[in-house]
Amino acid sequence: MLYSKSFIFTLREDPKTAECISHKLLLKGSYLFMVSSGIYSYLPLGFRVLENVSNIIRKHMNSKGAEELLMSALQPIEIWQKTGRHEVLKDVMFKFKDRKNRNLCLGPTHEEEITEIVRKYVSSYKQLPRILYQIQTKFRDEIRPRFGVVRSCEFIMKDAYSFDIDENGLNENYNKMFSAYKDIFKECGLEFITTEADSGAMGGSASHEFMVPAEIGEDILCECEKCGKHFKETENCPHCATKLKEKRMIEIGHVFKLGTKYSAAQEALYLDNSGKRKPTIMGCYGIGVSRVLAAIVETNYDEKGIIWPKSVTPFDATLVCLDEKIKSEAISLGEKLEKTGLKILIDERSEGAGVKFNDAYLIGSPYMVIMGKNYVSYGKIDLEERKTKEKKSFSEQELISFLKEAYNK
Ligand SMILES: [Zn+2]
Repeated sequence: MLYSKSFIFTLREDPKTAECISHKLLLKGSYLFMVSSGIYSYLPLGFRVLENVSNIIRKHMNSKGAEELLMSALQPIEIWQKTGRHEVLKDVMFKFKDRKNRNLCLGPTHEEEITEIVRKYVSSYKQLPRILYQIQTKFRDEIRPRFGVVRSCEFIMKDAYSFDIDENGLNENYNKMFSAYKDIFKECGLEFITTEADSGAMGGSASHEFMVPAEIGEDILCECEKCGKHFKETENCPHCATKLKEKRMIEIGHVFKLGTKYSAAQEALYLDNSGKRKPTIMGCYGIGVSRVLAAIVETNYDEKGIIWPKSVTPFDATLVCLDEKIKSEAISLGEKLEKTGLKILIDERSEGAGVKFNDAYLIGSPYMVIMGKNYVSYGKIDLEERKTKEKKSFSEQELISFLKEAYNK
């Protein structure tokens, strides 16, 4: 992809509205566009990362037998009245009437809607268990949207729901999702912590949160530096009595054992093998997809910009051409690399070296490929690893082999 043809318009100055590192770098690098406070558009660079994160999630959810669907964002209030959550969530719900006087909301979550779907189609134990999931935009009327896509009024979530005939089934699916979450966050390059959590507005018997330590986090966990364990309470460590230290965390995932709260209220019943009607046993499992993106940036950057993990980067390498005379050779090398399946941002613009380097660092591809003096004089192509700043010099063939190997192409 040629830089001059890409919708990339980095900012020279730090945006004044930026409230934290990820917000600043994502706006500055033209990943995000702020439409209004708490409302963002993902520009092509941001959309690439979002798709990469979503596809990692899909891979691991599918591997556990979960099936993807896409539910409506518009929901009738009646389904919320069945569980009483139109009251519980009334402050954060965007509610309105359509011209036929129907009471509608923009879904802040989908337990009620998925339960309606399963109620309609599942009536026998023979049709269970099931795990269904979606990646979709959710809406919350945030009184204080903050930190860019960390806390916004419109955000992208992966939400999964399991349906079982008994507690054993629920436990099995809960463990499957728990293990998928660990694989997902690891593959996204996140260092995370899991902790037992309150079920809050979801209800149910047990839940765990997945957290990423970051200064802007709105959750606080207490860490025992000796055992490395984390607790909700600020009592000394229950294991070794060491004084605990408070750490700020961003919540990126949450899993809940819901039990029959929704299935009983909405009559999502199945016939068991003795012909008795019972409510299905549910679990729900959320990942804040847009938050994952912000959490990756909050924990992968330096003074020059973002340092993307290879798994989610919008481009595998930025190829910087520093001499107009070798522009066509640079473009041809970029195209050769793209033919192997690598995603290359070819910076062939007529800009100075300083501007090109600044943009390459800010955009944050894991590798920068440099074609300049060394190429003109000796036919050598330089490569700099974004994270380690390590530099190497290659012939064209060596460079192609190196990048192919780095990305398993
Ligand atoms: Zn301890």
